[in-house]
Amino acid sequence: MTTPYDPTNIFARILRGEIPAHRVYEDADTLAFMDVMPQAEGHTLVIPKAPARGLLDAEPASLAAVAATVQRVARAVKAAFTADGLTIFQYNEPAGGQTVFHLHFHILPRHEGVALTGHTGRMADPERLAEHAARIRAALAA
Ligand code: AMP
Repeated sequence: MTTPYDPTNIFARILRGEIPAHRVYEDADTLAFMDVMPQAEGHTLVIPKAPARGLLDAEPASLAAVAATVQRVARAVKAAFTADGLTIFQYNEPAGGQTVFHLHFHILPRHEGVALTGHTGRMADPERLAEHAARIRAALAA
């Protein structure tokens, strides 16, 4: 049996504006914002506005909108951080590594020879996240 979507999850609360986020992009169907515990500078998340716990219960149209936003934001992240490459990942259910149960894609800029850091469990400096978000917004506008 599939676990139902829980509308009290933290990303649903960000979507409702109940808690802040360093937003970089928004359209009718999707939102992108900085991960507060980045595994690389520029670590960005993309989520659908429609409720979905993970990849398997998302509506195809919502998934298509998220894919388009992942590509759009990934291009901007790559430019903003002069990255050599990108890693995109997406987890499903605790066994798959998921900890927040609203569908999301991670975008990580990568540089040759630089490993990702693990989750520190500590929030990044908010001023630094704000600066990174501004850099990505500028790249999106370029
Ligand atoms: P996962 O479900 O394992 O794919 O990871 C959830 C991600 O959300 C982690 O990388 C967290 O650092 C991140 N995260 C948790 N709470 C917030 C928040 N309030 N704002 C932004 N990112 C968050």
